[in-house]
Amino acid sequence: MKTILVLFDGLGDRVYPELGNKTPLEAAHTPHLDTLCKKAETGIMTPYRQGVPLGTETAHFLLYGYDLSDFPGRGAIEALGEGVTLQEDEVYLRCCFATVEENQGFYLVDRYTPELTPEEIKRLTENIPKEIEGVKIGWKHSFDMHGIITLKGEHISSAISDSDPHYAGEHVICVEPFETEDTRAIFTARVVNRFLVETYNALHEHPVNKGRVKQGKLPANFIITKWAGRKKALPPFHEKHGISSLVLGASDLLRGVAMFLGMNFEKCPDFGQGIKKALKADCDFVQVHTKEPDEAAHTKNPVYKKEVMEKLDNELAPLLDINEEETLLVITADHSTPSCGTLVHSGEPVPIMFVGKGVRVDGVQTFGERSCTKGSIRMEGRDLMPMVLNFTDRALLYGLRTGSRRTSYVPGKTNILKP
Ligand SMILES: [Zn+2]
Repeated sequence: MKTILVLFDGLGDRVYPELGNKTPLEAAHTPHLDTLCKKAETGIMTPYRQGVPLGTETAHFLLYGYDLSDFPGRGAIEALGEGVTLQEDEVYLRCCFATVEENQGFYLVDRYTPELTPEEIKRLTENIPKEIEGVKIGWKHSFDMHGIITLKGEHISSAISDSDPHYAGEHVICVEPFETEDTRAIFTARVVNRFLVETYNALHEHPVNKGRVKQGKLPANFIITKWAGRKKALPPFHEKHGISSLVLGASDLLRGVAMFLGMNFEKCPDFGQGIKKALKADCDFVQVHTKEPDEAAHTKNPVYKKEVMEKLDNELAPLLDINEEETLLVITADHSTPSCGTLVHSGEPVPIMFVGKGVRVDGVQTFGERSCTKGSIRMEGRDLMPMVLNFTDRALLYGLRTGSRRTSYVPGKTNILKP
């Protein structure tokens, strides 16, 4: 039995007066979601813990059945998603060109230097440090003013904090070992701090920046860093759950998560095409992912997010004819993204529905944050894969010892006794 997971990134939201005190999803006219909801078992999923906002990468890590203690750091996921082959002796940092003023430290005038061309970035990065205390430092341009910094060395660690304060009107933060006193983390933090200062020294009087200032543009005189991560060996998705997988989406970040867990990823920017491909795919677990609700919420316009959900609902028509004998359909979100206020993402739970053979249809008529609280399911993100295995009759009876390690699916990977 096949599973199709339709995942609306950042779908969960709060209520707004301009939407009649409804959430964007509740206010949206979504006939296809509502039709599916009427034949679904529905409920509420807490992605991690009540009130704890997650990013797409950590939320998906949990949804795919992995523990956050095994999360490799977002820098490694982003590097992988952008085509970097992860190496054992490297640490990866997401970074971006920023504009600072020397003022009791480095005051961030802008965390993202605007209007920076690839040619300017190429010239600027020729002058940044390439090695500090034996650690080789590499740079890869990603998009706009963003890049990936690679630290390569024997005694380095990804357990370091961010230099990016993440909020406007702040100073660059001194990098520290993060939740450890490990000497490698202390060393790596020192190397990164030296890199930041030496980069500033190399860039603030750079001809590119002098030219930019003359043109009335902000100088790109700093590189701020965040999300250190590194390679980590985890059991791949098909080994963990006993099923094949395919993720259809447009996000490089999600591509990185999928690649990290050994899942197949296919770039599919068109949501409607993704739905059609998912229906045809010869694969046990197919996810169709759209970032559009999250991106709409980040514009801080709840009416726009409502309109985006109406547009996406139009694309769900082919799912109405799904054969429930053969396919389990799951529709949900990875986290909530509020369309107003200062939070990037928020910690409210999200609605979820399961349509398939034998599910306990619970009479919820519309797919929404509050309507689904009338449904029967209360779950966390980490419960998704056990529920998928259960609804598709693959869940192994708890406690059976079919090998040297516990598995969750039938048949477990077995070591057959030879005569
Ligand atoms: Zn977001």
